[in-house]
Amino acid sequence: MIIPKENVLTPEQEAELRSITAEFGITLQPISGTHRTIYAMLGDEREELLIARVEGLDYIDKVDTIQAPFKLMAKGSDLAHHRIHVGAKTLGEEFLVIAGQCTIDPRNPQYFYETAQAVKEAGGDVLRGGVWKPRTSPHSYQGDAKAMDILLEARARTGLPVDTEVMDEEQLDMALAAGVDMLQVGARNALNYGLLKQIGRKIRDRNTIVLLKRGMHMGKLDEFILASEYIAAGGNPNVVLCPRGTVPAMDGYRNHPDECITPLLKERTWAPVVIDPSHSVGKAAYVPFAAVAAAAYGADGICVETHVNPTKGIGDDPKQAVTPEVLGRIVRDVRAVYQSQKVHLEHLHLARG
Ligand code: PEP
Ligand code: MN
Repeated sequence: MIIPKENVLTPEQEAELRSITAEFGITLQPISGTHRTIYAMLGDEREELLIARVEGLDYIDKVDTIQAPFKLMAKGSDLAHHRIHVGAKTLGEEFLVIAGQCTIDPRNPQYFYETAQAVKEAGGDVLRGGVWKPRTSPHSYQGDAKAMDILLEARARTGLPVDTEVMDEEQLDMALAAGVDMLQVGARNALNYGLLKQIGRKIRDRNTIVLLKRGMHMGKLDEFILASEYIAAGGNPNVVLCPRGTVPAMDGYRNHPDECITPLLKERTWAPVVIDPSHSVGKAAYVPFAAVAAAAYGADGICVETHVNPTKGIGDDPKQAVTPEVLGRIVRDVRAVYQSQKVHLEHLHLARG
């Protein structure tokens, strides 16, 4: 919809507007009220350049688009029928639990092997373990490629698919060469379009899944969904959206918990939503509440930092990893809540058709 500044455009202005929109295959339908005339755009109105050129006209106030700016990830896209399979699970049909250490400590691999086994026994579906870590300070532990062998060994021992974060092309290539099942794009790189494009290109002919975290500074939800569109545009639509809290933090929590955006995402995109309650609230004692809230909001899964002995962990583990015992209780509770929320999710889907 094009909203002019003036109540009625001059014939010259309207002719100019029609000629610009025609270049993008759009025809204009004037809608005249008692005082003013606005214009509906018939055709694909999502082109950024079209919007920029129309909004650049000094007699136009703004363009309101009805269609979502994303094409592949939209609910109406052909890809809406795409299903993402993780191990034996199909996202959207069964609740997915990703769990494991924030950081693999290469000096203490036995903790990761024990955590991996415990995650499996607690009912986890995917084993997470940070090989490389995005740290606020360059003096903090940055990760170590040696941890990749530990991750792969844990996969071999448990049979669980594995998830790890990559931050640059070198790490991406190493993770792909190792056959990592799920690549994590962290909150700090969620708007790194170069990395998103590279990942999209490089996973095109693979079954690899990407867990895209929500950037902590991201504003509009469309910005998040468009970031996932960069990956899917490479040809592999195995992209999962992962809200993990934003800034400014809620006083007392690590971030501002955002599991409540799940229904909003589900109205706009077909992409599965897996919540990270650990980075959201940032303290082990709060994590079970946020995890159950994620299921209550209709999420398709959770990603929970877990450690057999959190006080001996590194990175985020000492403060926010839950023990396997707590993970077991979380798994039991979220699965029960997930079943109870399915009826609400169906209503949500029907309401927006
Ligand atoms: C992590 O998963 O350990 C991590 C660093 O996450 P985020 O990118 O959400 O901060
Ligand atoms: Mn972490």
